[in-house]
Amino acid sequence: MKIYNTLTRKIEDFVPNEEGKVKFYTCGPTVYSDAHIGNMRNYIGHDVLDKTLRYLGYEVTRIMNITDVGHLTNDSDYGDDKMVESAKKEKKSVMDIARYYTDKFFIDFDLVNNKVPEIVSPATSHIDDYIDIIKTLIEKDYAYVSDGNVYFDTSKLTDYYQLTNHQEDEMVIGFRDGVEEDLSKKNKTDFVLWFTKSKFDNQELKWESPWGTGYPGWHIECSGICLHYAGGSIDIHGGGVDNIFPHHTNEIAQSEAYLGRKWCNYWVHNEHLLVETGKMSKSDGGILTVSLLKEKGYNPLSYRYMCLNSHYRKQLLFSYSSLNSSEQAYKKLKNKISLIKDEGSLDEDAFAFYNQKFISHLEDDINTANAITLVYDLLKNELINGHTKLELIKNFDKVLSLDLLKKESKREDHDAIMGLIKTRDNAKKRKDYELADSIRKDLLEKGVALVDTKEGTTYKEVGV
Ligand code: AMP
Ligand code: ZN
Repeated sequence: MKIYNTLTRKIEDFVPNEEGKVKFYTCGPTVYSDAHIGNMRNYIGHDVLDKTLRYLGYEVTRIMNITDVGHLTNDSDYGDDKMVESAKKEKKSVMDIARYYTDKFFIDFDLVNNKVPEIVSPATSHIDDYIDIIKTLIEKDYAYVSDGNVYFDTSKLTDYYQLTNHQEDEMVIGFRDGVEEDLSKKNKTDFVLWFTKSKFDNQELKWESPWGTGYPGWHIECSGICLHYAGGSIDIHGGGVDNIFPHHTNEIAQSEAYLGRKWCNYWVHNEHLLVETGKMSKSDGGILTVSLLKEKGYNPLSYRYMCLNSHYRKQLLFSYSSLNSSEQAYKKLKNKISLIKDEGSLDEDAFAFYNQKFISHLEDDINTANAITLVYDLLKNELINGHTKLELIKNFDKVLSLDLLKKESKREDHDAIMGLIKTRDNAKKRKDYELADSIRKDLLEKGVALVDTKEGTTYKEVGV
């Protein structure tokens, strides 16, 4: 398989440390608020990579953390702890917030058919691991205590910027913007490994450490959890492109200083989902989630389909009109597949030919758009019998996870409801609001709530 490696800035042959086995770490969500559809694009990207590796026959161990402590509002250790801020706002404890948003995260994760990694671990459950690593870093003189906090000394490394193509100036300016300098640091790029003394007196979660009661920095979490479960080497590590600096740069710094050697060979980053105003981000408020799309009447897998139709290394602009097109195309595709009759016996040559094509698209830096186009090509090919087509699609769906063979479970009265929606639309156009309103009320009594969106009206089922 060929994959783009952020570390070398090249498309490379993927060769794991141990033949046939892959250790793969994905940076998990910070569970202080809902994960938006941009975050989910990132997890869909890694889900496809995970499933591709399995399709190719690798035994994959996938690890993901849940960040429930230490991630400040600015990724470079400035601002407030996101979890504490959210707990204050919602008048709940930090652990309640973590539990609530972790559960919600996995509901949306599942709605887009992502497979849960073998190992999922919250940051708060590995405090001893972080303390051990930090102790070693201090012993090796890579870390120092200053004004109560423990910092990583980036000046001790000759290759601190290896992941960012040595764009030092750009990086430093980028994260200096609009933030106060932390005068306890020796160098601007030094980062916190352990907080004890600071403005975070109100921190609810605190642990004893050799440097005083406090809590870990964000970056040490991922190194700690990864080293704990994967041992001293990992094949693939990744997240969204915003993680490249400072998060992954700092993860490499501390892990390699701790180990005294190279740690991870392939860094795989997903590009962002954008909205018209820029990157979709949690701090914007009013964010769009997969659950919300479902409530608006969309099939969450239409969103997965939309993501898979663009390359993971390209920015993807979200709009309802593109989602509508994806939903229509996805429905049409499923409909075409549902019309295939399971006839004939397996045409082994055709199966091998198409399967190899499918693999070659995925091996080409995970080209999911071409893999989907192949499904359309297959459908059009009249020389291949229905049974072989269905077998191929069943296999392709192990990676695409678009439920291509699953029958839609529609309400029996779906067509009648859609008819009433049309009647209501027409009534509204005629300004006959009494009729429009009575249709809405009657449907609600039957457990059908109408949802008006810019693109038209859909419905969702609600308890009566
Ligand atoms: P967070 O929960 O904020 O730590 O983010 C979880 C993951 O989502 C990180 O790996 C980010 O890189 C990624 N991410 C954040 N915003 C976006 C976006 N707009 N599009 C794609 N991925 C994103
Ligand atoms: Zn991470």
